[in-house]
Amino acid sequence: MFGGADVCVSVGDVMAERRKIALRAIKAPGVGSVLSAPPILEASGHTVDYTCGRCGTILMRAELDQVHNLLIHCTRCGTYNSTDVEG
Ligand SMILES: [Zn+2]
Repeated sequence: MFGGADVCVSVGDVMAERRKIALRAIKAPGVGSVLSAPPILEASGHTVDYTCGRCGTILMRAELDQVHNLLIHCTRCGTYNSTDVEG
């Protein structure tokens, strides 16, 4: 029925207080810090779950806008994710 367009995954249907944001999958890290996850990087208690842009695994918990210029290497699927997800 839907003709071949890219699938846009909605993240709007999560439960009450926890938001989920998919990180931006990138090809290869340039410069900057690279961390690996999981285990989940807990920058902040119960705020936003940042997930791998490819496989959806939760990689980091942080506040909205707390983390910038960071790359996270998903140990599940091997994808590098950028925390800069500005529209
Ligand atoms: Zn992944």
